[in-house]
Amino acid sequence: MADKVNFTDLQLNNWIIRQCASIGVKSPTPIQSNCIPEILNGKDCIGAAKTGSGKTLAFALPIIQKLCEDPYGIFALVLTPTRELAYQIGDQFAVVGKPMNLKYCVIVGGVDMVEQGIQLSKHPHIVVATPGRLADHLESCKNFTLSRIKFLVLDEADRLLSGHFDEQIKTIFSNLPKLRQNLFFSATITDTLQKLKEVTSKEVSLYEAPSDT
Ligand code: ADP
Ligand code: MG
Repeated sequence: MADKVNFTDLQLNNWIIRQCASIGVKSPTPIQSNCIPEILNGKDCIGAAKTGSGKTLAFALPIIQKLCEDPYGIFALVLTPTRELAYQIGDQFAVVGKPMNLKYCVIVGGVDMVEQGIQLSKHPHIVVATPGRLADHLESCKNFTLSRIKFLVLDEADRLLSGHFDEQIKTIFSNLPKLRQNLFFSATITDTLQKLKEVTSKEVSLYEAPSDT
């Protein structure tokens, strides 16, 4: 893809582009210009680029655009290894999704389970979660379902797949529909590629930032 790319070249809706501009996000970073069109075209995707390269909007913008076309059920599940990252990702969805009243819910440890259950029952579009607490909800609440999600995002995929979260991830994956788009983002890709191949039958679009950028 050519170097100088604008958000308008990426098939994003104008209102999303305006919303980005309002927070100083005016032109896409390389991971965004490479991954956004692939995600909008329905591909599974692995994106690897160092911390601070804009990986969150690389998945959040196309998910929000697709959500507008089909706002039904919990639309996307974003897993991330820490509470702090979960709140940061939630914030970015909130800012860009504001004009469409995007409803999101952050599910992390250290917060009252019952209160979280109420949030989940209000039909959020996006759930951003750490694996442990989400697995707790799946095991304790029969009414809570992820069976209609269209997107699974693993943020910091290498950290999620390093072994520490295996049991919770297994519980979560067993609750997901087979037909979905898988988006794995990471600073590094060691465990990521193999794992994505295990969970998808689709063609995978792989973008790995050059190591000197
Ligand atoms: P990563 O997940 O790759 O570590 P983040 O997605 O958290 O990075 O983005 C880091 C910061 O860069 C955030 O504050 C975000 O708002 C900002 N950002 C993302 N994309 C752009 C862009 N295209 N232009 C300017 N700033 C951006
Ligand atoms: Mg990140």
